[in-house]
This record gives sequence, C-alpha cells and structure tokens, in this order.
Amino acid sequence: MQDAELTFRDRPINMNERGGRKWVYAKKPSGKWYTRRTIFSWFILLFFVGAPFLRFNGNPFILLDIASRKFIIFGAIFWAQDTFILALLMLSFVLFVVLFTVTFGRIWCGWACPQTIFMEMVFRKIEYLIEGDYKKRHKLDNGPWTTEKIIKKTVKHFLFILISLTITNVFLMWFIGNEKWMQFASEPIPEHLSGFLIVLLVSGFFYFVYSYFREQICTMVCPYGRMQGVLLDSKSVVVTYDYKRGEPRGAKTNGDCIDCHQCITVCPTGIDIKNGSQLECINCTACIDQCNKIMHVAGKPPGLIRYASEMDIKEGRSTIWNARNKAYSTVLLIIFSFFVYTLFSRPDIETTILRTPGLLFQENENDIISNVYNIKIVNKTHNEMPLEIKLISHNGEIKMAGNSMIIKDQGRFESTFLLFITKEKLSGDKTDVEFGIYSDNELIETYKTTFVGP
Ligand code: SF4
Ligand code: SF4
Repeated sequence: MQDAELTFRDRPINMNERGGRKWVYAKKPSGKWYTRRTIFSWFILLFFVGAPFLRFNGNPFILLDIASRKFIIFGAIFWAQDTFILALLMLSFVLFVVLFTVTFGRIWCGWACPQTIFMEMVFRKIEYLIEGDYKKRHKLDNGPWTTEKIIKKTVKHFLFILISLTITNVFLMWFIGNEKWMQFASEPIPEHLSGFLIVLLVSGFFYFVYSYFREQICTMVCPYGRMQGVLLDSKSVVVTYDYKRGEPRGAKTNGDCIDCHQCITVCPTGIDIKNGSQLECINCTACIDQCNKIMHVAGKPPGLIRYASEMDIKEGRSTIWNARNKAYSTVLLIIFSFFVYTLFSRPDIETTILRTPGLLFQENENDIISNVYNIKIVNKTHNEMPLEIKLISHNGEIKMAGNSMIIKDQGRFESTFLLFITKEKLSGDKTDVEFGIYSDNELIETYKTTFVGP
C-alpha cells in the first residue's frame, strides 16, 4: 500500500501523525471556474453588505430583530405570532438545501457558503497579495523573523482584524438594522458597553477562524459537511475525478492522469480528489481549473476532473433525477405553497383576548355579570389603524380601560376591558363568546374566548 493511501485512510490530510495541525499551503487557483466563483462571490458579498441598507415597501429588506421578536425577510414582516409561518419558511429552506445537496452535492459550500466566500475570496486573496503564492508563504512562515516578515505579517493581521470587525458590524446590522447601528456608533461606548464587548468577542472569533482555524471549520466543525454521506448518491453531481479516463495514472501510462499532484497543491483543504468523493471536499472547483491547465499542456482534452456524478463516470449516463429528489421536490412544493398561502392570507392585525388571570366574574345590579379581559393587538400593516371592538356573539356591553384603540403602523396595543352580559343570556358557568375587531366599521378579525358566570 502506498504512503499516500495510508495517510488518506488513516487521518485527515491537515493533521500530522501525532494529531497536530498540519498547515495547508494551497496554491493560488486560477482559471475559468475560479473566475466564475469570484464574480459570483462579488454578488454574495454585495448582498451581505448591502442587505441591511435595502428597503422594500418601507421595511428593511432583511432584519432579524430577536429582541423585538420581529423578523423581516425579503421585506415581509414576521411577528412572534407568525412563528408557524416562519417555521414553514425555515422548513422550506432546509428542504431546499437538502434537495439541492442530493442533486448538486456541496455546490453551496463552494459557491455561496459565507465561510468559503470570506476565506477564499477575501482573506486568502489578501494573503496572496501580501505574502505571495504557496511556496513564498511556506518559506516566509518557516523562515526567521526578518524585517520583511514582520512588516508583511503586521500588515496582513492588521487587515484581517479590520475586516473581521467590519464583518461583525455588518452582521450586527442584520439583527438591529442600520439606523440603530449608526445611532449606537455615534454614542459613547460606555452607554453600550455590553454590545461593544460582544462585537469585540465576535470579531475575535472571526479573526481566529480566518487567520488560524481556516479549513478546519469545513473539515471538522460544519455539520452540513457531515451530512454529505447520507445525502449524496451515485446520481449527485459533484466535483469528481474521472478515474476511468485517468487510470492507470503516471507519466508513462495509458491513463490521462500524469500524477502531477497539482490538483492536491491547489486544494484549500489539502485533499486528493483522486481518492474519490470525500467529506473534506468543499467543491470549490480549484482542482478542476488546475487539472485543465495540466491537460492543456499535456495535449489532452480538459475535464479529467469535472462536475459529474458517479453514474456518469461509471456508466457514461447522466441524469440528475432520482426517486429521492423527486420526493423532496414534491414535499418542498407542497410546504412552500402552504407557506405562500398562509403568508398572504394572514390578517392585518393579530389579536389576543384572555380573561384576566385570577379573576372570575363580578355580579352587578340587574342580574348583569361582568368579566375582565386583557387584550393585545399587533398592527402588522404600515398604516395607523383606528380599531373598535364589539361583542358579536351576544348582546353585551364593553367598557375599555381608557385608551383609545388607535395603533401606530407596526405598533402594539395592550389594555384591559370589562364585558357585561345579562345572566339570562349565559349558557352555564362557561359561555363561549366571540368578539369582532373593526376598523372604519369593517370587520377585520374575530376572536373567540369564554365568559364565566355563576
Ligand atoms: S492535476 Fe490532473 S493530471 Fe495532475 S494529478 Fe491531478 S488529476 Fe492527475
Ligand atoms: S478536492 Fe477540488 S473541489 Fe474539493 S476542495 Fe479540493 S480543490 Fe476544491
């Protein structure tokens, strides 16, 4: 058995025989696929930075306001009461990721995952720019602390810290909105000390990940990578080495692979794609570009490493459809349609009316019984809403505690009211009652609860 095979089977490639870290010095990729990924990453980065500043229908485009339990996704507002609709959206997203993975493997990891985008398209590019390609970096890291090394390392880590702080602050805007962020930034630090410390902590984490931990996030931490074993099958399209064409490999063999190891040199996780589909492969396409260059020099057709399924390589047949992705597509379509229906059919307001805890009923003059209720109304629209509450199931009288029911756009109303019903109208010690919430004399929501009597 060859050494390379032993290593591949025995331990991750970025780990030495004693379990310690083996630094991966990946060669700078270049080629058709790398250019495509770079352009695509610009859009992702633009979206990441620009989304907190975008507005849609007067709302932020994205806002994950956990403190106010209000989420705005693509301009649609989800309140705490919309948890079910939000759960449907999340479920659709998870199913979409699963469906996409079953069909196209880890395309997400290579093209859209924030870890890959920031690592390969931001931090790694800065590193290439300051420290040079893999051989120079290796030499620099293992050489003495010369003035050149001190300057290069200082500039690099200063930029890494600066970018980590920027990422954290943009990330924060996704949760608190850009206006609140600007307000915080303009106020003295002691007024937001805990927030400031959290920003430092998260920035420190990003800096640690991108300057030191790097590809280990993908190979050791990310749960999505671990799911590949159960999600992928022989029809999944992944970055694959065409072993039928490449083997037997070597400079003087019939196989197209000349065993130049260039596909390993360029790999950011340090693996050898020729060993087959592996958990560590993030489908970054760097080895496709590198091998295509070798094939060009060797006068052989490109595509020895390419996007292909196991079935395509083995049997020369390619189809992306199988029973699993057909089933996932059907379930996804049903759940997403249900999500769209519930999103567009939800009422403009969300009402909760509950009898005040600890209070039963009060007996008044003329055989009139009263109950006390707490009412909460959330206005989900962008308009101020004058509201009125009426009892629609019985003849009864409502006495609201003071406040007029005018709710600002996206505002909340909370109050207490008394409901009076004559005893003869009650159907026992517990009577079902129904309220109607009106705006400009138009019924916009009904709410059922109970009325207790003697
Ligand atoms: S780059 Fe291509 S030719 Fe070279 S070892 Fe890898 S697969 Fe073989
Ligand atoms: S094997 Fe190829 S596609 Fe997979 S991570 Fe390495 S370079 Fe990227």
